[in-house]
Amino acid sequence: TQINVNELLGSILKRLKPIAQQKNVELVLESFRPVLAELDKTKFTLAISNLVENAIKYNNRDGWVKVSLNADHKFFYVKVADSGIGIPESDQEHVFERFYRVDKARSREAGGTGLGLAITKGIIYSHHGAIKLYSKENEGTTFTVRIPLIYIA
Ligand code: ATP
Ligand code: MG
Repeated sequence: TQINVNELLGSILKRLKPIAQQKNVELVLESFRPVLAELDKTKFTLAISNLVENAIKYNNRDGWVKVSLNADHKFFYVKVADSGIGIPESDQEHVFERFYRVDKARSREAGGTGLGLAITKGIIYSHHGAIKLYSKENEGTTFTVRIPLIYIA
């Protein structure tokens, strides 16, 4: 079914707001285009929620998380950017692996299993999409998701 992605992102951010407020992290949504897309609503919600949860969890007190939605004729794009601790370059290629966590000490402190990004990647791939990350230690991380608006089998 056709899902209103702007609305869906709004409801994800609304649900995660209390977690962000515990660290005084600002959650911002920027919608550049209205997007309707054929999606598995439950799975897609989980995929994006994992990214936003990470952006809050691996952030600093008083930081920010910006989620943006854009589209062109072929794809829509969801970006989740944070002002957090970042991911060292040598770990970046591994974070999508199941159970992989950067620096056991800092991750143990944050809690979790290391499955979130593996699940997110699987869901994005099942929508024929792609996911990339850009990160710099002590500056922040941006995950970019790209999903085709029309998929021809
Ligand atoms: P889970 O999501 O299963 O509760 P998790 O958050 O540790 O546990 P993933 O979401 O798969 O697992 O992330 C894997 C690792 O990548 C994390 O442990 C963390 O070290 C790193 N990571 C993920 N997102 C970010 C981010 N936005 N900023 C910094 N590090 C991140
Ligand atoms: Mg996670």
